[in-house]
Amino acid sequence: MVASRGTIVARGFTRRCPRCGSGKLFTRWVKMVADCPRCGLHFERESGYWAGAMAINIACTGGLCVVLLVGMLIATIPDVPVAPILGLLLPVAILGPLVWFPFSKTLWLAIDLGFLQRMDPHERET
Ligand SMILES: [Zn+2]
Repeated sequence: MVASRGTIVARGFTRRCPRCGSGKLFTRWVKMVADCPRCGLHFERESGYWAGAMAINIACTGGLCVVLLVGMLIATIPDVPVAPILGLLLPVAILGPLVWFPFSKTLWLAIDLGFLQRMDPHERET
């Protein structure tokens, strides 16, 4: 039975296999196994496959930085404290991609499995 798109995306947000829901996909925070330990889904389908995960990671980190910057600017205009704002935004910009890394990978897998592969009638679910 194929899971619903909502279930697949929820699994992606929680670092689980989008096809079967299995956890334990990461041996370390940034080290992902090649195949799902339960269903055998091979994660990196082709060379360059993780570009989508990288885009998600950049969008989430960049979006968070923009929201924080705009919020702080709105709260402090006209006397904008540049140094404290940079002191907050730089760690977010540097550490954000590391925090998002595993989530962006499983979320990309979920988007690919739940939406992109289903739109292609020639694509098999492997
Ligand atoms: Zn699986």
